[in-house]
Amino acid sequence: MTTRVRPWQFYDVAISICATCFRRVDAKIMFQDGGVWMHKRCNEHGAERVLIADDVDYWRRSRELFLKPSEMPKHFHTPVKHGCPYDCGLCADHEQHSCLTLIEVGDGCNLECPICYASSGPKRMNWRSLEKIEAMLDAVVASEGEPDVVQISGGEPTLHPQFFEILEAARRRPIRHLMLNTNGVRIAREAGFAERLAQYSSAFEVYLQFDSFEERALRELRGADLRSVRRAAIEKLNALDLSTTLVVTVKRGTNDHELGAIVDWALEQPCVRGVTFQPVQDAGRTEAYDAGVNRLTLTEVRRRILEQTSVFKPADILPVPCHPDAIAMAYALKTANGTLPLTGMIAPEVLIAAGSNTIRYEGDRELQQRLFAALSTAHGPESGAASLANLLCCLPKVELPQGLSYRNVFRVIIMQFLDAHAFDVRSAKKSCVHIVQPDDLRIVPFDTYNLFYRDDLERTRLGPILAAGSVQKS
Ligand code: SF4
Ligand code: SF4
Repeated sequence: MTTRVRPWQFYDVAISICATCFRRVDAKIMFQDGGVWMHKRCNEHGAERVLIADDVDYWRRSRELFLKPSEMPKHFHTPVKHGCPYDCGLCADHEQHSCLTLIEVGDGCNLECPICYASSGPKRMNWRSLEKIEAMLDAVVASEGEPDVVQISGGEPTLHPQFFEILEAARRRPIRHLMLNTNGVRIAREAGFAERLAQYSSAFEVYLQFDSFEERALRELRGADLRSVRRAAIEKLNALDLSTTLVVTVKRGTNDHELGAIVDWALEQPCVRGVTFQPVQDAGRTEAYDAGVNRLTLTEVRRRILEQTSVFKPADILPVPCHPDAIAMAYALKTANGTLPLTGMIAPEVLIAAGSNTIRYEGDRELQQRLFAALSTAHGPESGAASLANLLCCLPKVELPQGLSYRNVFRVIIMQFLDAHAFDVRSAKKSCVHIVQPDDLRIVPFDTYNLFYRDDLERTRLGPILAAGSVQKS
């Protein structure tokens, strides 16, 4: 008898959504040709094959080793009724509190980026009232107690007519770390603006859109040549030593060859504490940008960083245990003697070679817990340095740099949001980046917000799904 063999290894089942009608569908997870694939089928719209990761080993380790008990918000906001992802949020089935919560203060923007997930721009100059924004801040505080990180976002939040009053309102609340998500145009162009921002420099960070050194890439991603804006903004932020994270939206064939150069350059900028890379998400103006197959995944971004800069080794860029398959992180210390990647400082006995770069966490629970605390998105400037110092203190062979502060910390994050193609209920439930729904103040995972809850989507997309019955009958 001839045995017929599949060209893949079947690994698991999953629940996804159809990328056309957004109804829940069954899926299978396969390993094939070195990649992790999702196969799913909608009764109406047919089969889809989606690349989830291009590194099976890393992806499996992120699922199997980087697990920690879920941390919960103080309370949930919605009942479990229709099933995930139709009950956001946060419903009682969610498995992680808000490590970072976005507050969008309006839709207006001085750019009109082709990749904007919020479809913001000069034609949508509508702003939420200060009263509404205070209610949104209060919702985060009610949900979290002392929220770890709140990010003021937009549109372009610096254009809000009461922008500094918003910062004051955030400051009056027990928010540990405040971030400003900005395209940097106002910082670069308006005299005195960066100086005024610097008055908030304690536990405050500028999350600065950066993307590329090249005109072509900036025009493709942002619709404008912003090179002089980037330069001028960084010059001012350096002069003020205002903590800054560069945010790079990565698109295949556009700027994915620059990742290493951006890390290397960022390390030379005194104000820059890290770089966050975000593979472009299929939402907003980018919808239908990419099919399921030719996708830029977290693991490919990780591999390209490793290929393009010598600062980090494979063992340095690790899954973040809050949400391991969606976020990866590496720490380095900037010292007088150069850049030291964190994992290079971990005592050798903690690492096992065994043909791979696996860290044997089971051998040291205390170290594991401290490493997990350091590898967390749930902190900003000061607590990032504190948890890192805490980790390094339990490694006897590591000499801790004198006076370690956030100025020494350099953090690379790769953050991949779910879109309709790669959607996986398992991953959505672990989402730790959330956003406040402005109308009813629910806290919604950022991934599902862009799929079902932004603007009119709850009425136009989710409503018909629920009316028809949320689970597809096969
Ligand atoms: S993503 Fe989370 S909050 Fe939304 S329905 Fe699923 S479990 Fe509930
Ligand atoms: S991505 Fe940011 S800068 Fe670009 S249009 Fe949207 S809000 Fe504005």
